[in-house]
Amino acid sequence: MEIACLDLEGVLIPEIWVAFANKTGIEGFAKTTRDVQDYDALMRYRLNLLSEHNLTLSEIKEVIETLKPLEGAIDFTNWLRERFQLVILSDTFYEFAQPLMRKLGYPTLLCHTLILNKFGMISDYKLRQANHKRQAILSLKSLYFRTIAAGDSYNDISMLGEADSGILFSAPDNVKKEFPQFQTAGTYSELKKEFLNASSRSLRI
Ligand SMILES: [Mg+2]
Repeated sequence: MEIACLDLEGVLIPEIWVAFANKTGIEGFAKTTRDVQDYDALMRYRLNLLSEHNLTLSEIKEVIETLKPLEGAIDFTNWLRERFQLVILSDTFYEFAQPLMRKLGYPTLLCHTLILNKFGMISDYKLRQANHKRQAILSLKSLYFRTIAAGDSYNDISMLGEADSGILFSAPDNVKKEFPQFQTAGTYSELKKEFLNASSRSLRI
């Protein structure tokens, strides 16, 4: 049996923090895992910026409510789920993801949690576990599943490397250049082809 493991932001939905940067006009929120390799440093930077501007979780959620899955993402996940079991491995937070999961038909999601203070401000975050995307792949492999993973940025690289097949989807040029060992896809139809190529079973489109 094969399991498809997908990153969420930049693969099925827009980057949440970039949308928040656009909405608030605060440029600093536009930094993502595509720009910064150290996830903790990136999150500390975001939390400081939120506190500096007195922004709460509910203000971020208001922006998230307006987001839609990327064009073609729902059809793509439907296609994928007819052929593979699907698990989303994301560095987002359950508190953020819920409204978008509804729009994607509630696929299985493994991600992190936020810690709020009594004013509804995000005071900290709790990783589900360190390097959780790679750990999830290792665990699936220990259950004798083959894994095919796709993601778009630095925080996906250890997941792609651990999976039986790793695909960079819609990744920026710097990431593609740095990690030429992975197959690449720029559109959902190319991504479907890469999943079929990576599959050990014969699956028809
Ligand atoms: Mg991503």
